[in-house]
Amino acid sequence: MIYLDNAATTKPNEDVIQSYIQMNTQYFFNPNSPHTAGVKIAHLIDKARDNIKQYLNLNDKFDIIFTSGATESNNIALQGMAQAKKRFGKTILTTKIEHPSVLETMRTLEEQGFNLQYINTLENGKLDITSLKKLLNDDVVLVTCMHVNNIMGQIQPIEEISNILKDYPKVHFHVDGVQGFGKVNLNINLVDSYSLSAHKFHGLKGSGILAFKQAKTIQPIIFGGGQEYGIRSGTVNAPVNIALTKAMRQMDAQMDSNIKLLTEKGKEIRQFIDQYEGVLINSPIDAAPYILNVSFPGVKGEVLVNAFSKYEIYLSTTSACSSKKSSHNETLKAMGLSNIIIEGSIRISIAPDLTNEQIEAFKDAFDKVYNEVKELLKYEL
Ligand code: PMP
Repeated sequence: MIYLDNAATTKPNEDVIQSYIQMNTQYFFNPNSPHTAGVKIAHLIDKARDNIKQYLNLNDKFDIIFTSGATESNNIALQGMAQAKKRFGKTILTTKIEHPSVLETMRTLEEQGFNLQYINTLENGKLDITSLKKLLNDDVVLVTCMHVNNIMGQIQPIEEISNILKDYPKVHFHVDGVQGFGKVNLNINLVDSYSLSAHKFHGLKGSGILAFKQAKTIQPIIFGGGQEYGIRSGTVNAPVNIALTKAMRQMDAQMDSNIKLLTEKGKEIRQFIDQYEGVLINSPIDAAPYILNVSFPGVKGEVLVNAFSKYEIYLSTTSACSSKKSSHNETLKAMGLSNIIIEGSIRISIAPDLTNEQIEAFKDAFDKVYNEVKELLKYEL
């Protein structure tokens, strides 16, 4: 099996799984219990928060809130901050190429009376800074975008946006960092909040964090026992949170070598595919190196995914998390791609442990799939 769908989810590390098992068998206690076993777990969780801050190079202004994943983190940050700031202004800004956990949350806020405006994106999928500047005014309280796009891999200019927003101190700047962490460097201190899902960096599903500057400023959207700074009530899932910290430690330690490996292997695959007449590479050249979006115009993405599956090569059409939604091509549409290119697109997303033998096997399979479908390729787009 050759797994090329790492933007959808990654394989959990063995020591992450072991840590989860050990915590559940030996340290299953509730960190909110007053007995010594509970207190011990509470200390472990506090230590985990400190470690996470260290791995993410965060300053002391940040709090770490454990969540069930980035969908929840995005919801908590966006809904919570919009509500907390609504007396100062009602305009919220995002782009049309966000993950549904951001887009749908922003649209729900619009239904609740917020003025939602979309920042344009350029042809290469990057946020258009001129459009952002035009939309900014005294009524804007919330700006959000992703660091790395899950479908194309384009990297957003977070530093530049953060610099511009310095002139608008009322604005909360939230970044969905799911596809960026461990693969593209970012000084997270430049943003006000940042979401992650553990399963995208070899951790467990149903586990994530929201790193937030002064968590107490968020208005909670979940009510209950007041855990996680009162923002995310519910019994703390200590085994999952410790497992996330383990996965992050490993990612942090290997960051530089991983980026190097992803860059080399991503480049090799890109150069290989580039030779095939009629096949288009949609990901911009400066995209995150582990995501490559490719189109076979005239052939459906689903047909291609099945064709590769026959060779036990697993890749995606566009984005697995939104493929059940009719809006799943919004990113590609916003980048101005025609329907025929969108329908024929697949996403190849690699992990650093992809071996040279696997790359060679992928190349062989690619050649076979290409020859199976090449009669169908349309050159007039
Ligand atoms: N944001 C982005 C950019 C993503 O790719 C994903 C997952 N595909 C999410 C948010 C949501 O993550 P989860 O499904 O783990 O909540």
